Amino acid sequence: MGTLSLFVFIDAFGWELVRNRSFLEPEARIKKPLETVFGYSCTCDPTIITGVPPREHGHFSFFAYDPVKSPFKPLQALRVLPRSLVDRGRVRNKISQFVQKAYGYTGYFQLYAVPFKYIHLFDYSEKRDIYLEGGINGGQPSVFVLLDKAGIPYFRSDWRKGEKEAVADLSAALAGGRPRLAYLYLAKMDALLHAKGTQAAEVGAMIDGYQDTLRAVLADARKSYDEVRLFVFSDHGMTDIVRSSPLMAEIDATGLVFGRDYAAVYDSTMARFWFLREGSRATIEAILGKSKDGRILDNATLHDWGIDFADRRYGELFFLLHPGVLLCPSFMGTKPLAGMHGYDPGSPGSRASFISTVELEKAPEKLADLFSLMKRESGLGV
Ligand SMILES: [Zn+2]
Repeated sequence: MGTLSLFVFIDAFGWELVRNRSFLEPEARIKKPLETVFGYSCTCDPTIITGVPPREHGHFSFFAYDPVKSPFKPLQALRVLPRSLVDRGRVRNKISQFVQKAYGYTGYFQLYAVPFKYIHLFDYSEKRDIYLEGGINGGQPSVFVLLDKAGIPYFRSDWRKGEKEAVADLSAALAGGRPRLAYLYLAKMDALLHAKGTQAAEVGAMIDGYQDTLRAVLADARKSYDEVRLFVFSDHGMTDIVRSSPLMAEIDATGLVFGRDYAAVYDSTMARFWFLREGSRATIEAILGKSKDGRILDNATLHDWGIDFADRRYGELFFLLHPGVLLCPSFMGTKPLAGMHGYDPGSPGSRASFISTVELEKAPEKLADLFSLMKRESGLGV
């Protein structure tokens, strides 16, 4: 019998969803917004487990401009296939699975809707499982690597598994009362919010379901531990989509040639550009300057948000859409969505959340503070 610190990560369970609900009351002692990191889960999660900003851990978006090191040159052959076929989700998933296996990638891998005619220009940023040793591009050890090295027993759910299985794995691991820290990852909320938006009735039902699950896990864990300290958090929130931006077509219409004059990655909420020929920057900046859909991020903002990458690997120019505007079609998808994240981290819908069933001297303010909290809780030190 000892103490368990249980960290439950509910993807996209942002402050706007938490603030007006009685979730986990009366057990919850702390409920507060948590400052997110600009980007997507592939940006936020490395910060949660290493405590450093993107410029240091080197993870930001899946695709980075790197025509020399791109592993995707053979995939260019697929450009002859009709888009109506290769843009189908199932077909893309099959091709992604095949590539992942062929290349031995252990990270989260998905080709999304990146056009095959341009894919040879880009490298992929999450080839390795970020939770394992050597998984972080910047070389930082994650909290789990530190726990391994210190010989502190812990449980971490497998992100490849569904929620039911993950919860069952957790219960089994806790039954012996051995892990000092447990980390449960729940991903379904993110998918539901993308599909239905934050106001759908299913969202409330899912949150109620999470509450029941966590109460059952708590009751169960208390049989094997003297004290169970529960922390629930998210990586970001979710913003309801009000309209789409046709930015991709607008840039195409300039007549500039992709791959010769410029390169771009169109994420769901931002466009990132690299300029390959003189004059192309001015042409593209003129279009972006007139756009009502978003704004160009200046250097001070890139620095504040921790995305001023020295090698400009993730973009020489970042254009961020306003909250609620979806870049669609984009390299991430061709169909509209009801919710998206990856907007200005200061916008209300972007904020993550933090809930604790114990009082804390130093409650986390931002994602990186979760790393410090996990270290303190597990006895790794400050
Ligand atoms: Zn998401």
